[in-house]
Amino acid sequence: MNYADVFAKVISHAKEYGFIFPSSEIYDGLSAVYDYGPMGVELKNNIKDLWWRAMVQMNENIVGIDAAILMHPQVWKASGHVDAFSDPLIDNKDSKKRYRADVLIEDWVQKQEDKIKKEVEKAAKRFENFDESMFRSTNGRVLEYQKKIDEVMVRFVNALEGNDMDGLRQIIVDLEIACPESGTRNWSDVRQFNLMFKTALGAVAGDAQDIYLRPETAQGIFVNFLNAQKSARQKVPFGIAQIGKAFRNEIVARQFIFRMREFEQMEMQFFVRPGTELEWFTQWKEKRNRWHRALGLPEKRLRFHVHEKLAHYANAAEDIQFEFPFGFKELEGIHSRTDFDLTEHQKFSGKKLTYYDPELQQSYVPYVIETSVGLDRTFLAHMSHAYTEEDVNGETRVVLKLHPALAPIKVAVFPLVEKEGLPEVALEIFHKIKFDYRTHYEDGRDAIGRRYRRMDAIGVPYAITVDHQTLVDQTVTIRERDTMAQERISIDAIHHYIAERLSIRSVLA
Ligand code: ATP
Repeated sequence: MNYADVFAKVISHAKEYGFIFPSSEIYDGLSAVYDYGPMGVELKNNIKDLWWRAMVQMNENIVGIDAAILMHPQVWKASGHVDAFSDPLIDNKDSKKRYRADVLIEDWVQKQEDKIKKEVEKAAKRFENFDESMFRSTNGRVLEYQKKIDEVMVRFVNALEGNDMDGLRQIIVDLEIACPESGTRNWSDVRQFNLMFKTALGAVAGDAQDIYLRPETAQGIFVNFLNAQKSARQKVPFGIAQIGKAFRNEIVARQFIFRMREFEQMEMQFFVRPGTELEWFTQWKEKRNRWHRALGLPEKRLRFHVHEKLAHYANAAEDIQFEFPFGFKELEGIHSRTDFDLTEHQKFSGKKLTYYDPELQQSYVPYVIETSVGLDRTFLAHMSHAYTEEDVNGETRVVLKLHPALAPIKVAVFPLVEKEGLPEVALEIFHKIKFDYRTHYEDGRDAIGRRYRRMDAIGVPYAITVDHQTLVDQTVTIRERDTMAQERISIDAIHHYIAERLSIRSVLA
């Protein structure tokens, strides 16, 4: 199966097996808002738990907080969100579809890069001792593509930096980018659109105050910087981690849970001495990439992407991109945010946000490295990578090959048949295991093969079956999801068997 085809399959699989449902579905849904079902909530909780452990439990200098979604409106003035948290939008007048102008241009660049990649791959097949850099610097077609990309990138970055909306539009016109829907190039002007959701505080008319649903969790960390540092007696360098909902009125909300209007972020702000931030930036970049790999995302589907245009407050920024079925896209952002946020909050609040460094014997506003990963995007990355269809004796077996640590259910327990005392023994085993692992019991009315298939489809790594031999010698069969290999082990050995294989030590190390 082609990886690009996986996306549609994942969406329907997620619905059928209780991972993700459209929000308010009986009212025909709410665009770009989704609910997590019985399996989805387990997978989501596992991702959160493994992030929290990797960040907070494994680092003596990182503490967690859980800040409120609603914050003082001044927070968003200080952070720059009121003035500058917007996307450049363009409408196609024929299809009436709205696009992000920057994304249209980025997609065009990606297509050119794909063309270069294809040329390189073709040549690599043709020539022995193929030297890629030599080929890139001599092949006429590749040079032409590259030249065009470079020219466009210069104009693109200038337009973004200069907030030049006409300039952005002109690039789209010059590149003859057409609307994917209507196929026409009948474009409107490019306009900025603020992405924050506004609501009102207070029930009395006239007394209401405009406030916002937070568009990122980071600001809850910045405003609590001193509270957390002092109460947890932390010394710089130290970090504050948080998992929580964020809201963005995304204009082009599509691609399932990749771009949602309500989503969850797992963010960590690491406070360091000014001047040391770029070392920490490199360390965190590598560490975060290792975490994704440890949970089973393959190296070939992960890459770093250096930001073309740095935000005015950042002095380094890279994304960890994952190859989703629809291409390489941002999964996590690693940003060196300097002292921008704390300094701005000092200015707007009139409160000091400095740290006294006992070793240097001086006070300063710490610099900050941020790691910010989308929980929902991590979910989608794992679902996309794990979804597998296999041919088994002429039938298609659908398996979610999730890392066992992420599997929504770790163990299934079945009686082979619904009689002769087998359910009682199986239930006894179930009631023992459930204290330590999310375990599923299913009675013996369906054929065992069908029950295995259902467990494969939700990614259960181990299935235990109690059969007639169990009654004789106290052994069960245990089946491994990916290989379908079955082993006979004694009931007493089950716990050890599972514990050994479900250990998350290697994920956290
Ligand atoms: P993008 O460029 O894709 O809009 P971003 O650069 O605005 O993302 P950040 O502000 O850096 O994203 O947010 C950090 C992380 O939060 C992202 O890497 C992504 O995983 C997640 N995220 C951001 N926006 C959304 C969204 N609308 N839906 C789901 N996840 C999101």
